[in-house]
Amino acid sequence: MSHALDPNLRRALGERMRYYHELGIYDFYRREPSISESVESAPAAVEAEPQMPSQPELREEMPIRKSAVVAADVEENIFEVSAPKPEQRAADPSAALKIIREDLGDCTRCKLHKQGRKQIVFGVGNSSAELMFVGEGPGADEDTQGEPFVGRAGQLLNNMIKAMGLRREEVYIANVVKCRPPGNRTPERDECDTCSPFLMRQIAVIKPKVVVALGAVAAKNLLAINAPMAELRGRFYDFMPAGVRSNDPSWQGAKLAVTYHPAFLLRDPRQKGEAWKDLQMVMKHLGLRAPKPA
Ligand code: SF4
Repeated sequence: MSHALDPNLRRALGERMRYYHELGIYDFYRREPSISESVESAPAAVEAEPQMPSQPELREEMPIRKSAVVAADVEENIFEVSAPKPEQRAADPSAALKIIREDLGDCTRCKLHKQGRKQIVFGVGNSSAELMFVGEGPGADEDTQGEPFVGRAGQLLNNMIKAMGLRREEVYIANVVKCRPPGNRTPERDECDTCSPFLMRQIAVIKPKVVVALGAVAAKNLLAINAPMAELRGRFYDFMPAGVRSNDPSWQGAKLAVTYHPAFLLRDPRQKGEAWKDLQMVMKHLGLRAPKPA
């Protein structure tokens, strides 16, 4: 009897595996039970195996025979997510964010801690925000003030938020990496991999309805889709933070939209109209209306 993997499950599994590959997470390949035990306990996945190696990275990572086992193992691990985090015992989102910040500590987990950062820029805003913005990393002003998006790009983001009929205090703002990359360079993959789990935990606590990824770096890290901005923008993605679960089982994840980073818009103001289209899509979803001109 044939046991074909449900196409939606297979697609979700493939996307999730690509996502973990992008983040550099391969641990689920090495987890017990052993190969032989998994083969015995997962006949359906074994029979579904011919569908899986269509992804080049899977073919390169493991022998064909093992991929069937991986399918069973990954299904178990990825969809089960991970152990509860300490913040899940917190009384409210604000307390939970404090616990995550304490967990971060004076972080030295990646090399950005020794490349001239003045301080960690954790995130700012409403801990129960419906709308969350995620940028790339702190710049010089943010590094000095300890708050994301406070420089010129921050002022433009404030204007964008205002144009949506909101105040900065009503949304939550964070970055993929929490320490300033030297010379405002793009954060490197290992830095994003190391830091982004804390962002995922923040998102799981805040439980926004919509996350807006500001720029390609944020989009790539949140979605693990390596595509040009023109392809990433203009639609919603279903987003669930990876590796962590919310303590609210009724939260089914957020919608994620991608738009241009405000710093890019400062360099190329002609794209502001396109960014405004992205924000209008978000406003429609959240039932927001632009304020009437004074
Ligand atoms: S960027 Fe993130 S992981 Fe790296 S040192 Fe700073 S807080 Fe730690």
